[in-house]
Amino acid sequence: MAAADTGAVLIAGGGIGGLAAALGLAQKGIRSILLEKASSLGEIGAGIQLGPNAFHAFDYLGVGEAARGMAVYVDKLRLMDALTAQEICHVDLGEDFRVRFGNPYAVVHRGDLHGVFLKACRDSELIDLRVNSEVVGYDQDGASVTAHLASNERVTGSLLIGADGLWSNIRKQVIGDGKPRVSGHTTYRSVIPTEQMPEDLRWNAATLWAGPKCHLVHYPLSGWKVFNLVVTCHNDAPEPVAGKPVPHEEVMKGFAHIHERAQDIIRHGTNWKLWVLCDRDPAERWVDGRVALLGDAAHPMLQYFAQGACQAMEDAVCLAHMLGNHRDDVATALEKYCAQRFPRTARVQLLSRAIGEHIYHPAGEHARLRNAIMSAKSQDEWYGDLAWLYGGTGLKA
Ligand SMILES: Cc1cc2nc3c(=O)[nH]c(=O)nc-3n(C[C@H](O)[C@H](O)[C@H](O)COP(=O)(O)OP(=O)(O)OC[C@H]3O[C@@H](n4cnc5c(N)ncnc54)[C@H](O)[C@@H]3O)c2cc1C
Repeated sequence: MAAADTGAVLIAGGGIGGLAAALGLAQKGIRSILLEKASSLGEIGAGIQLGPNAFHAFDYLGVGEAARGMAVYVDKLRLMDALTAQEICHVDLGEDFRVRFGNPYAVVHRGDLHGVFLKACRDSELIDLRVNSEVVGYDQDGASVTAHLASNERVTGSLLIGADGLWSNIRKQVIGDGKPRVSGHTTYRSVIPTEQMPEDLRWNAATLWAGPKCHLVHYPLSGWKVFNLVVTCHNDAPEPVAGKPVPHEEVMKGFAHIHERAQDIIRHGTNWKLWVLCDRDPAERWVDGRVALLGDAAHPMLQYFAQGACQAMEDAVCLAHMLGNHRDDVATALEKYCAQRFPRTARVQLLSRAIGEHIYHPAGEHARLRNAIMSAKSQDEWYGDLAWLYGGTGLKA
């Protein structure tokens, strides 16, 4: 059965990227139909870090106040040496940082963030949210595009935005560059009640412990009720895995070589789930006529810069901006969107890998060099190094 609505933009995927895209379009008065594969819209129960660039996107998408209300504003990004349990360096996120970048740095619960976006989408008359709607492919005729659903239903709109994540079906047709690259890095996630976090480590910081072939990240969430705990080891895992429950003893195996104080943090984790991380090399063409990719479907990256969702939101801002400015020429709007977003997102993709290799996981001489370089930087130097990222938005490169 064909559901013709040639005026609406179709969006495949209801993650943070897809919902942000729908909100951005609504800000420009553009209708959308969001097609989500799952039977309900939601996010996994873990945390997410948000750079100042994310707050610029929240404001543009009309959810600034709600998003600000549920964030925890951390004071520092702190880097610890996981072998010595000594601080290597930190970046102050206080007043100077906020003034420099015009916005704060914060951490949020993914479910809370997704909930803010979802509520705003539900409140909009311009957004039609549909679940149980897996998009398997599309065809287009120069004036409209038709999404093919797994149920055999056809949905027609003016454009199709593929926001369907790492394993995107839309990407298969737009780029066709095969499966994502398996990084060999395994990440384990847990969320623990704050009272179970070692008392002397209940820092108001996004803290990273860097050790040979492994690292730990922790920060407070949800009004300090819980701590988000993410621990990663480079164990050459060969196959992609997403969200598999894993016993505690298996998690501890990758961290036996680090300082007791760091191991002790991991000991407090419960209900661990495992991901084997994947990314891709940057690909320059995200557009095929009236179809464009957004978020992880366009530029999947390792999480080491904590920017995947932030970049997806910037994509949504840029897409809305271009479509708002080129209403009569959507093909040009999509080309401009892709041309503006590609260099910035490619830079984050490649640097995320480099951070893993040179900051998070080195050993021996390599790690000593890291410590020497990073501990010598002043706050001004840190702000200068991060300006291209945190000072950017979806509207400028
Ligand atoms: C361990 C870890 C930590 C991270 N930490 C951070 C962080 O601190 N900060 C940050 O900014 N980013 C972080 N990220 C990255 C961030 O989670 C992702 O980049 C972001 O969630 C991508 O959003 P998305 O909407 O593009 O894709 P997804 O979140 O994958 O959403 C895709 C949606 O599309 C649906 N879907 C899939 N296929 C189809 C289809 N064919 N048809 C219809 N629907 C479909 C899916 O069900 C899903 O709802 C982290 C990632 C990991 C793995």
